[in-house]
Amino acid sequence: MRRPLVAANWKMHGTPASVQSYIEALLPALDPGGAEVVLCPPFPLLPVAAMLASGSPLAIGAQSCHWEDQGAFTGEVAAPLLVELGVRWAIVGHSERRQLFGESDATAAKRAAGAQRAGLGVVFCLGETLAERDGESTFGVLSRQVAAVAGLDPTRLAVAYEPVWAIGTGRNATPEQAEEAHAFLRARLAEHMGGEAAAGMRIIYGGSVKAANAASLLSQEDVDGALVGGASLDAGEFCAIIRAASPRSGGG
Ligand code: PEP
Repeated sequence: MRRPLVAANWKMHGTPASVQSYIEALLPALDPGGAEVVLCPPFPLLPVAAMLASGSPLAIGAQSCHWEDQGAFTGEVAAPLLVELGVRWAIVGHSERRQLFGESDATAAKRAAGAQRAGLGVVFCLGETLAERDGESTFGVLSRQVAAVAGLDPTRLAVAYEPVWAIGTGRNATPEQAEEAHAFLRARLAEHMGGEAAAGMRIIYGGSVKAANAASLLSQEDVDGALVGGASLDAGEFCAIIRAASPRSGGG
């Protein structure tokens, strides 16, 4: 039984005041028996978010981290520092990092390993572009990308399937497209990490998830949660997505 995982990726949005009011709105809606919920605000908001979420079922995540524990890496953030601040998760390999900041399968794998070494759980993002889907290379791309997680600890790993054409576009994958990709990824994960590890791993969907489409996406056998960008900025909308994810674990 895989506990659903729902993560909010705030990207470059939010302020100290907005993270406080958001967490205050979110906490009463969280059910310890429902989905596992992670909030990933920008780096400077992590300490206040971790403080406000302390002792609650809400976990705080970073949107990236470096692979080294410290050093001359201007602009980067080390995983052990994140842990010290109360952060529990890191998103790694997001398509915006890949497309805009030169992230590759190799650097994403290094960041994920650094995160896990420090004790963080990792949400490892992958997904094909529109040109790759139209060119019928989706499954080749996913095979290549998912191979990057082979050396990681499967017990502290979730894979996020995020078709690039669905991120921030308002155009989500259909439930059938998501299920096809997730089942394919689980089969590849079984080859890399063994069947038991793959069967227990959360594969979550990201790409224009909102309250209105969450239930149909999350009803799919291999869709174990959601990584939510734009719709996560509104606490009420995000709470509705959490509720849509929760029935599978009995959370109502
Ligand atoms: C994301 O950035 O991970 C994402 C899924 O964004 P959106 O929900 O806005 O498509």
